[in-house]
Amino acid sequence: MDKMHYINGEDTTCRLCTRVQETHDHLFFMCRYSLQVWKYIQAKAHTRWPNLSWNSLVEWTSRRCQDTKSTNNKIGALIFAAAVYYIWQERNKRIFQQLSQPATTVGEAIFQVIREQLMSSNGISLADGTRAIWNIPWLARPLRDTGQDR
Ligand SMILES: [Zn+2]
Repeated sequence: MDKMHYINGEDTTCRLCTRVQETHDHLFFMCRYSLQVWKYIQAKAHTRWPNLSWNSLVEWTSRRCQDTKSTNNKIGALIFAAAVYYIWQERNKRIFQQLSQPATTVGEAIFQVIREQLMSSNGISLADGTRAIWNIPWLARPLRDTGQDR
């Protein structure tokens, strides 16, 4: 049921670890390669994910996404989306281009893409701690603004 669909239907071994049959749960959450990616991004972003299955994690994330007031929830959703995307890209690169990257490289790419998103979204007000984690400088912030800081 949970198997990926293949056009030619032959090799269903996970390309990231080459050990186990590929399923969504395996590919994104249980694969030792993907776990390294998650571990890397979690450590760098100081965030933790519940240990859940694919379906419950998708549900959990979309619930978090709806809470747009919380920056941490927004960042969590960004991480989730980017990690899934990058893990999937890595899998495809291995299949179609015979290219492979270490999990730490993929983890760093995820970190950087989210950092860029955080830097370019002026609307999001980031707490000092969040800026420190993501290494985001205070940009041209006037020393004295209009007085309505919070
Ligand atoms: Zn695997």
